[in-house]
Amino acid sequence: MVQPSKIVCVGKNYAKHAAEMGGDVPSEPLIFLKPPSSLLVDGLPIVIPPQSGEVHYEGEIGVVIGTRARNVPAAQAWAHISAVVPVNDVTARDLQRTDSQWSRAKGFDTFCPVGTPVPVSGVDLDGLGVTTRVNGEVKQHAPASDMAFDIPAIIEYISGIMTLEPGDLVATGTPDGIGPVVAGDTVEVEVHGVGKVANPVVAAD
Ligand code: MG
Repeated sequence: MVQPSKIVCVGKNYAKHAAEMGGDVPSEPLIFLKPPSSLLVDGLPIVIPPQSGEVHYEGEIGVVIGTRARNVPAAQAWAHISAVVPVNDVTARDLQRTDSQWSRAKGFDTFCPVGTPVPVSGVDLDGLGVTTRVNGEVKQHAPASDMAFDIPAIIEYISGIMTLEPGDLVATGTPDGIGPVVAGDTVEVEVHGVGKVANPVVAAD
């Protein structure tokens, strides 16, 4: 895929996940950035950094921007999206708790596995959903219809703040069921009707 200029993520976008994090869905989308240096392709290992003792998977539906989006109304959002892709918003949960900003917890190298983007024209948008498995066991499973802010609303919101460039990746939030991975595990995020991204987990050298 095209190297994105940025990866924009939405936090607490599913009510049951917001609850398991100890709160409610925010009144407007909560966004944060992951650095492009965190990207990881299918099959390569997620590296647990020495700074963290609690690394979690977060299976998410990702969308790739196709044409520049600035102040795009929700009704036109899909016209600016080229593809849908599975994303794992890997998070050092302990560092997310201790840091008021999430750049460190979300930004380590290998913390953004992404699958192969599938053109929007080939995706059943009404059937979108995400399933996460660790060592083959289902940990997360939710339809996109459970999102507090749907994908068009997210694009409207973000593009009213920052211009989304072709190739930029938007991760739309994780459902409930987050949990840890440790060295030796394999974690797989499947976006229904799109595909999977599967990665082994290793400890840092
Ligand atoms: Mg996330």
